[in-house]
Amino acid sequence: MKRIAIIGAGISGLATAYAIERRAAATGIEVETLVLEKGDRPGGKILSVQAEGYTCEWGPNGFLDNKPMTLELCNSLGIKDRLLRSNDNARKRFIYATGELHRLPENGPSFFSSRLISWPGKIRLACELFVSPRTDGADETLADFARRRLGPEALDKLIGPMVSGIFAGNPETMSLRSCFPRINELEQQYGGLIKAMIKLARKKAREKKEGKAVASAAGPGGVLTSFNAGIQQLTDECVKGITGEIRTGKGVEAISVKDGGYSLRLTGGETLEADLVVSAAPAHALGAMLAGMDQEASALLTGIAYAPMLVVCFGYSKDQIQCDLEGFGYLVAKSEGANILGTLWDSSMFPHRAPEGKVLLRSMMGGAAHPEVMKLSDDEVVQKVKSDLKTIMGVDTTPEFIRVFRHERAIPQYVSGHADRLEALNARIENFPGFFVTGNAFGGVGINDCVGTANLAADRVMTFLADARRA
Ligand SMILES: Cc1cc2nc3c(=O)[nH]c(=O)nc-3n(C[C@H](O)[C@H](O)[C@H](O)COP(=O)(O)OP(=O)(O)OC[C@H]3O[C@@H](n4cnc5c(N)ncnc54)[C@H](O)[C@@H]3O)c2cc1C
Repeated sequence: MKRIAIIGAGISGLATAYAIERRAAATGIEVETLVLEKGDRPGGKILSVQAEGYTCEWGPNGFLDNKPMTLELCNSLGIKDRLLRSNDNARKRFIYATGELHRLPENGPSFFSSRLISWPGKIRLACELFVSPRTDGADETLADFARRRLGPEALDKLIGPMVSGIFAGNPETMSLRSCFPRINELEQQYGGLIKAMIKLARKKAREKKEGKAVASAAGPGGVLTSFNAGIQQLTDECVKGITGEIRTGKGVEAISVKDGGYSLRLTGGETLEADLVVSAAPAHALGAMLAGMDQEASALLTGIAYAPMLVVCFGYSKDQIQCDLEGFGYLVAKSEGANILGTLWDSSMFPHRAPEGKVLLRSMMGGAAHPEVMKLSDDEVVQKVKSDLKTIMGVDTTPEFIRVFRHERAIPQYVSGHADRLEALNARIENFPGFFVTGNAFGGVGINDCVGTANLAADRVMTFLADARRA
């Protein structure tokens, strides 16, 4: 029986423990998993706060159904029938730019009729067709990529908001290759994004004609999916599905090599031994744990910056809001100089997020470009969000329900050079057999990516155990 310690009970750690147990059961390899969590509850960034009839998501409000990982996990947990797809409203996404809300165009004709991008900006965008692909292999920032291929207006109104919406990141520092590898591939493979769109559309039409199964057009980013009581149901059900122990209030302070396995020093001074270790803790936390075991790996990990973020929930009576709330919400172009990054119209996507006759809006503030907002008091935060909602949505009334959530280290930043950093880190980690790393700093920040990266970690663990059994 091999004891496997999994550090961190966010979705990455829970999905890893669950996947290891499933794979072990299927192959007859005996394992004992033990999840060690520093906080007082499992779930990590996933927490659905129920208050006064509102369901406020502290962190993520769902996952997209255009990737299979989380859907497959739900299927395996037996909770697929409880999934709640956001309603059709959520397909409408908006950008706040030039002093008004613009619906994000979803196709060519709507792009040309939209007032989001000016005519000179549209012409510049169309010129993307004639921009040669970059061939020097440099790890370009998203801002440089956008300026080179699409022009400065597209950076401000399309790429910038997308980066703040997913990573709370600054496009001037974020890496195209690490944040959006598919876009990088499309440029390299097809010579440009418009060329890629045309060729892929033709291929899809051809395949449809030949009667081949074609991926459904669920919208550009898939459908946001959650549960009635909030996304926390996902981690709650993972906890139920894991047979091993999950110990909360037990942070790992240091890891060292011991007798062909590992020794973990926990908060309170207790030590614990494990044959294998999988870290699903944030990079900075793992960096601190490894300080004594491998200084180089520790420095590489602590060098991964995290953007801070404030999540501000406002609840109103429906009759207090004149603005049409049909949609996902909006992201703000940087040139608008707003305090907020954007607002999600949570109760429009998932009606049960607010009591009958009420609405719930969730605004985000901060991000990599504005870490100073973390110094504001809750009252100051509320005033700034109120002022922006008045300007952007015309909401000139005090919300009857307010919650401010603070994430000092919300989302890891995949800045230029991130891929090289991970390569160097992996080379160090390979020196420690039976030690594995997963989590949102490595293979994508979305819930789907966390589950996918957890599955890969579980595969590596099982290969290691199978090799050890054969030896
Ligand atoms: C505000 C916000 C909104 C988001 N919205 C979305 C969204 O809508 N859709 C989406 O797909 N993704 C979204 N994300 C991203 C997604 O939620 C996260 O990337 C994901 O939940 C991270 O999971 P994780 O397990 O890798 O890390 P975490 O959830 O951070 O878990 C790491 C765990 O490790 C624990 N830990 C730390 N140090 C130690 C230690 N020393 N010992 C033991 N345990 C330790 C922590 O307490 C924590 O529980 C959002 C993120 C934020 C912050």
